[in-house]
Amino acid sequence: MSTSVAAKKGSSVEQLALLGGPKAVQSPPGDLFTWPIITKEEEEAVLEVLRRGGMSGIDVTMQFEKEFAAWQGTKYALGFNNGTAALHGALFGCGVGTGDEVICPSITYWASALPVFSLGATVVFADIDPVTLCIDPNDIEHRITDRTKAIMVVHYLGHPADMDRILAIARRYGLKVIEDVSHAQGGLYKGRKLGTFGDVAAMSLMSGKSLVAGEAGMLVTNDTEIYERAIAFGHYERFDDHITTEYLRQFQGLPLGGYKYRMHQLSAAVGRVQLKYYDQRCEEIRQAMNYFWDLLEGVPGIRAHRVAKDSGSNMAGWYAPHGHYVPEELGGLSITRFAEAVRAEGCQCVPGCNLPLHTHPVFNTADVYNEGKPTRIARSTRDVRQPAGSLPISEGIGRRVFSVPWFKRFRPALIEEYAAAFRKVATHYRSLLKDDPGDPPQIGTWHFFTHR
Ligand SMILES: *Cc1c(COP(=O)(O)O)cnc(C)c1O
Repeated sequence: MSTSVAAKKGSSVEQLALLGGPKAVQSPPGDLFTWPIITKEEEEAVLEVLRRGGMSGIDVTMQFEKEFAAWQGTKYALGFNNGTAALHGALFGCGVGTGDEVICPSITYWASALPVFSLGATVVFADIDPVTLCIDPNDIEHRITDRTKAIMVVHYLGHPADMDRILAIARRYGLKVIEDVSHAQGGLYKGRKLGTFGDVAAMSLMSGKSLVAGEAGMLVTNDTEIYERAIAFGHYERFDDHITTEYLRQFQGLPLGGYKYRMHQLSAAVGRVQLKYYDQRCEEIRQAMNYFWDLLEGVPGIRAHRVAKDSGSNMAGWYAPHGHYVPEELGGLSITRFAEAVRAEGCQCVPGCNLPLHTHPVFNTADVYNEGKPTRIARSTRDVRQPAGSLPISEGIGRRVFSVPWFKRFRPALIEEYAAAFRKVATHYRSLLKDDPGDPPQIGTWHFFTHR
């Protein structure tokens, strides 16, 4: 535990900034949050491609894929123009088609679930575990039917899902497992890299994520058929004589799925440089984030969202870090009021996370493809829709998590100021109870990333 001046100063003597006191965070952040870190090396790599007019080629992308597969530890890596497309390719790769069902956590970004619709299949949502915030292995099995094709696993906010138990279920029922690694590129689960557990993994490399190529995505797998199906789906330029899957060869040279999904080579060029430094930068992020949470150990009402220290698992690049909120320990203080008070201290803090997808009209009433029925049930023999109240953890999680700063650098003195902001608010919660307006009915967001 730190005994620095900044940490002590915030602990008890001061009035909350929201009630007129001084802010806990006084120092300018400098490069504490700067991301991605872009240097001359990326600029030169991009200019090389740009000047020779190589934007639509695949030579740089294939080099990136080769390096990526080596880093990932998979036989294949296939570049996409974004993570959504990579997930689409992974679903097609697994053979997801008309009438199939894919089990997916309700708390995730749209792209883990929505591409399923365009393959004629539908989504069945599972609840999340309130501690890991990933799909709850206890809530999968009873949702499996003879139409279930795959389980979509999301390592949410950098936290690895419980792969041992998920894989055991998948094996028992002969289901494919797709890992969405968009929040946890390069992370470990029990010493092994995320993205190597399922039949296939896909991930975003867009510029808000921890591993950045700009706008890009990557599919990784050891399965030749999945890889070649993903190529057939939207990569006509490499759908050639190298394809070994016999039934695909007749369609050689065309994007069988009707999609064109190759990575922009300016992004591939950026990605190659970013990947070189990624593990080292993630290590610094984890050092900074763990330091922050260590400072807050034992503070009432808040808990870290992180893995146990000697589990062999880690939080990857700790994308969009959050903490757990325990209002019972703070006299029932609303998370809305709590976060407002933290922000007044000069520290970003937003209540909630992604809103539960199963409650959105897109998954209940929207007829996306003009079939005269909600798309969710248009091609299935049963109504798989899940009413409000059916996934209680997902529906209530917005009141129990809040965002914390995503430190990219290990700068202890600065980090102590941000930790002090949380400690100060949690310690002085009583003074916030009086004018607590309570929470709005829904807390969270349909979109994380702020475009700029
Ligand atoms: C960002 C994200 C995606 C989509 O990736 P894009 O590159 O934005 O298309 C998919 N799944 C999750 C969980 C994400 O956060």
